Amino acid sequence: MSAQAGWIVRKFGGSSVANAECIERAARLIAAEPAPRQAIVVSAARGVTDALFDLVSRAERQDQEAASRLEALGDRHRTMASALLASREARDTFERDLAADLRNIADILHATAIVRAASHSVRELVAGYGELWSSRLIASALRERLDCNITWLDAREIVTIRPGELGPVVVWPRARAALAERLDPDYTGVVLVPGYVASDETGVQTTLGRNGSDYSASIFGALLHAQRIEIWTDVDGVLSADPRLVPDARIVPTLSYHEAVELAYFGARVIHPQTMAPAIEHGIPICIRNSFAPESPGTIIGATIDAEGAVKGITSIDRIALLNLEGTGMIGVPGTAHRLFGALHDAGVSVVLISQASSEHSICFAVPEGDIERAETAVRRAFDAELREGQIESLGATRGHSILAVVGEGMAGVPGVAARLFGALGGAGVNVRAIAQGSSERNISAVIDGRETTRALRAVHAGFYLSPHTLSIGVIGPGRVGATFLTQLASQAERLRAERHLDLRVRGIATSRRMLLDGRSVSLDGWSDALARDGADCDLDRFADHVQSDQLPHAVIIDCTADRAVAQRYADWLARGIHVITPNKKANSGSFGYYEQLVRQRRASRVHYLYETTVGAGLPIIQTLRDLRETGDEIHSVEGILSGTLAWLFNLFDGSRPFSDILREARERGYTEPDPRDDLTGGDVASKLVILARELGLRIGLDDVEVESLVPAPLLGLDADSFLDRFAAYDAAMAERHAVAAAAGDVLRYVARLDAGGSASVGLERVPASHPFARIALTDNVVRFVTGRYHENPLIVQGPGAGPDVTAAGVFADLLRLGTYLGASL
Ligand code: ASP
Ligand code: MG
Repeated sequence: MSAQAGWIVRKFGGSSVANAECIERAARLIAAEPAPRQAIVVSAARGVTDALFDLVSRAERQDQEAASRLEALGDRHRTMASALLASREARDTFERDLAADLRNIADILHATAIVRAASHSVRELVAGYGELWSSRLIASALRERLDCNITWLDAREIVTIRPGELGPVVVWPRARAALAERLDPDYTGVVLVPGYVASDETGVQTTLGRNGSDYSASIFGALLHAQRIEIWTDVDGVLSADPRLVPDARIVPTLSYHEAVELAYFGARVIHPQTMAPAIEHGIPICIRNSFAPESPGTIIGATIDAEGAVKGITSIDRIALLNLEGTGMIGVPGTAHRLFGALHDAGVSVVLISQASSEHSICFAVPEGDIERAETAVRRAFDAELREGQIESLGATRGHSILAVVGEGMAGVPGVAARLFGALGGAGVNVRAIAQGSSERNISAVIDGRETTRALRAVHAGFYLSPHTLSIGVIGPGRVGATFLTQLASQAERLRAERHLDLRVRGIATSRRMLLDGRSVSLDGWSDALARDGADCDLDRFADHVQSDQLPHAVIIDCTADRAVAQRYADWLARGIHVITPNKKANSGSFGYYEQLVRQRRASRVHYLYETTVGAGLPIIQTLRDLRETGDEIHSVEGILSGTLAWLFNLFDGSRPFSDILREARERGYTEPDPRDDLTGGDVASKLVILARELGLRIGLDDVEVESLVPAPLLGLDADSFLDRFAAYDAAMAERHAVAAAAGDVLRYVARLDAGGSASVGLERVPASHPFARIALTDNVVRFVTGRYHENPLIVQGPGAGPDVTAAGVFADLLRLGTYLGASL
């Protein structure tokens, strides 16, 4: 090589040169490259190779359409030329060459039609024309756009190949000599090379096989001692998994050659392993780039191994058959494997996985399903005697499997990788039939039931790629509390992800009518528009299925409704392993049997059910009670003011204003339920008391609570507005109660009381002005725990106990608590 700067080889695939617009884009990329020496290898425009093969098949069938289809291919290229080439002369030259090629092809097709058969070499000859056309066209286009040398290099004159067992083999000395003859070692500028085409040893045009342009790039990379090879395609790079199966798949920034080979073998959309060989041999890095998104860095495949992330990719091969040869006669007998695999080789069956236990009692191997019969016959024949004589007991064969493989050089010597893999599979309920790991530790393969492939891939991907603290969240009932929660979450999500590695993804939002689902996560600004625009009819079964995705480690449903029907589903969700968080009181204050079931489920599995906000909104009341109990304190009584609404009403009610008037104001301020009777009956307070009682271990229900309702019986049947009008008639009685209390220095408070014996009551009471319950403000809740330890001076929890902000924050805190239960460090 000269002292010149090095070469860069850039290959543009079929989709990157599909039409004039794409070629224009590619030309811009070529122009933007500062390296003075570029070899541009191009594929045929998308679909052209297929069309050429199709022409030959049609000719064999004497299909009349062959001629018109050939003409259409010509038209397609003429259209591109007239869009791309301004110069008349350039267009004429291109069209003249094209016409000559089309005539050649027409002749070949004609001859093919007569003999009704085309040989392999005829097929290959025709197939390569697409690359000749695209590369000539791009060369001319670049001449008009770039101010440097542009040379079209005929790859057929340089790359000579002969058939090899694993595909075409380059005759390197000839290639090197041919290139030296045709390219000045001091050349600077751009060289255009048709990919895919080559010549056989007799000099006839042929190809490097399907997708051979990558191979061309690699060959020219080696011939030119390129600094790097770029493969420009229509994807962002090599992905960690097939994105159609694993929505969370991400671009892998770097791969070693070995990793790329393993992934390619397992069908990842990388370049074919064989095509990389020349690049690997010369240690030339290969970059996979997206022509349609040149700003994304793509994937670099090179000689270096980067230690970050033990696992680079997760792939699978479907339609695998598993064969198992079993018998005591194989133990300690050398040569069994040799005979087995020799027989398979002779039958032309490729074995994709082998596993033998050290007892040598059985050898298990996997083959493509299509080969199962051939494999079985070959093995039976080879071990005919042993099978008859019983030294080999059986040869079992089953279909319908797939192989899942995790690939990464970083796995070598790192303990725990296999544990993580099998842990993820186990967690997803996927049974493993056979396992293989080479001693290179670059690949661990597991044979699983083919029907479980997607689930397995997702679970394993999550196990390796996502934070173990990624939570899939579904929110039901984005009303005032729910919406506020979403806003609070949006403001903290980024920080929690960055600082705490807690990845909180809202993947579903549902109202009673509609629901919005998103595979990755719902955008938290604008979710309500999206719900209105893109939402589907609400279906909570589908909602739960979506939230509990195989691809994410944990799922939680947050129920912000007050709906009994939604609460009725918790048992199912918990049973499925979905965590539940809720401010909805219905489940815990409803039937005792159901409550017990939820507690049982929570204790039996590792699933969590959190409901701090059912009592006192965000105040730590449930947690306090639990801590007291679990640490062995003896709880004598729990008393308090548990309704923010009633607290506010009686804080304001000093006799100077009619009670109904204050109620009206409370309703206007949004402090009451839409129908204020829902607050005044005391039912809400009784529910909270039941929840606390059950937390204490008491078997009580709403019927066991003695409730004083503040709604006069005659007003129960009215609608909400007439209720408010007629309620004024009872103002005098209420004022009287206040006056009597005030005369004794007391105030009125709506108090809930519970003792250890299980007696529970809620109602309006006189409380001395010095009592803690008298000294609360606004919507404060207050709870007083009298216990063995907090006896002389009871434990009091007090503070705002209503309102969307504090309730939502309480829900959020429960969510973070869940995160810590799942192992996040907050
Ligand atoms: N045009 C050829 C094919 O489609 C070669 C290539 O695109 O790499 O197989
Ligand atoms: Mg292609």
